[in-house]
Amino acid sequence: MREKLTKDLILLADACQEPLYLVGGSVRDYLSGTLSPAPDWDIASPMCEDDFLAAAKRCGFEVRAVYPATGTVKCKDTTGAEYEFTRFRSDTYVRGMHVPAGTEFTKDIKKDAVRRDFCANAVYYDVKAGKFVDPLGGIGDIKTKTLRTVAPAKKVFGEDGLRLMRLARIAAETGFAPDEECLAGAKENCALIRDIVPERIFQELFRILHSDGKAGGKDGPYRGLALLRETGVLKEIAPELALGDGMDQRKDFHKYDVLEHSLRCVRYSAPDIRFAALLHDVGKPFCLLRDGNFHAHSEEGAWLASEMLTRWKAPKKLIEETGELVLLHMCDFDLKMRESKVRKELVKHYPLLEKLFALKQADFSACRDDFSPAPTVVKWKEILEKMKKEGAPLTLAELAVNGKDALEAHIPPKEVGNVLHLLLFDCALGMAKNERGVLLRRLANLSEKYKQ
Ligand code: ATP
Ligand code: MG
Repeated sequence: MREKLTKDLILLADACQEPLYLVGGSVRDYLSGTLSPAPDWDIASPMCEDDFLAAAKRCGFEVRAVYPATGTVKCKDTTGAEYEFTRFRSDTYVRGMHVPAGTEFTKDIKKDAVRRDFCANAVYYDVKAGKFVDPLGGIGDIKTKTLRTVAPAKKVFGEDGLRLMRLARIAAETGFAPDEECLAGAKENCALIRDIVPERIFQELFRILHSDGKAGGKDGPYRGLALLRETGVLKEIAPELALGDGMDQRKDFHKYDVLEHSLRCVRYSAPDIRFAALLHDVGKPFCLLRDGNFHAHSEEGAWLASEMLTRWKAPKKLIEETGELVLLHMCDFDLKMRESKVRKELVKHYPLLEKLFALKQADFSACRDDFSPAPTVVKWKEILEKMKKEGAPLTLAELAVNGKDALEAHIPPKEVGNVLHLLLFDCALGMAKNERGVLLRRLANLSEKYKQ
């Protein structure tokens, strides 16, 4: 493992009176051969944070934050590698509350190991001695890709609800699977996720949905979500979505129930549309329960998806984009839309088209694991190509006239946006040529109308 460490860290370990251990994800991933090029380095040690701080400063580390209550120091070495130091400690909890109610520092590595979550995360690497220390048999678990809790699973999950999300996320990112006891303990405590702040839930969910970016994360998004479903955590954090579990769909289109279809849609989609893939059919259970059918599910799903993401305090842009994609995912699914209407839709949603096509394709593939091109996408792409060949503008920026031209033609300022879009649609439909002279005349005609 030494060859993966910076010189700075090795010098720091040499400069410390007591051993410095790497622990957690970096050791786990190193031993399973999946260490990323810039890992998150967690350091643990029996030494106190003040002594560590002094040694780190002497060795040229930049200190970023100190949390005396938990004996934690965040710092960075001269190569930019980042570290989180925590002093050996044992924690006591109020059931489910995530933040320890009491912390006691210790020199005993075994006590530090049993305050962690999984044995695979409690393998230590002594930097100075160049040796692994394995108080709980975590190396064996890493070999068998097993997530086993450091103490009875009921206790471990009962102390801190975040561990329920960590279980799914670590499984997703590493390819490890919980043993029977771990799974049973998570199931029994799934309601404790309610005590975790939404930002942390979103952070872990985001990592699950992007876990296939990690070396051990093959099919991670699907596996992680399936684990959230299995433990019952999904119905706590996303009850609207979990209602689709076991909900049948038309057998002529669908092989899977609503929830399984959604998980497969994530599985078959690119990382940048995973939230939309997960939530695209979230309106179905709502509609079925209210109306007895799925007819309005994209409209209802759009606001439901936005509500859920807002609840998780997701970034505004993701909320808006996901809502729009969910709203549009059924557009022309039966191929009955006239070409003129498709042309309008293509122009109207041009910035989102790539993502919309990707979502429609993933949705199609997830119905019956069919990877042939989705008919709507084929049709819409053909029309788009035709428009490009005709030289039709696809965005306002490509239009031969702009806002200034509209104002000079005496279009009322508050109508400029509408008028330019009208011209864009005219061009998209082939009713006007995208030529300056032609469009200036159109503007002059339109301004006459506004005078009346
Ligand atoms: P990664 O760095 O890839 O996210 P990690 O396992 O290192 O994974 P961190 O959040 O960096 O996760 O935490 C470092 C270590 O601290 C973990 O491996 C685990 O031993 C312990 N740990 C972190 N969070 C918890 C928690 N909520 N409960 C118990 N132990 C935890
Ligand atoms: Mg870590």
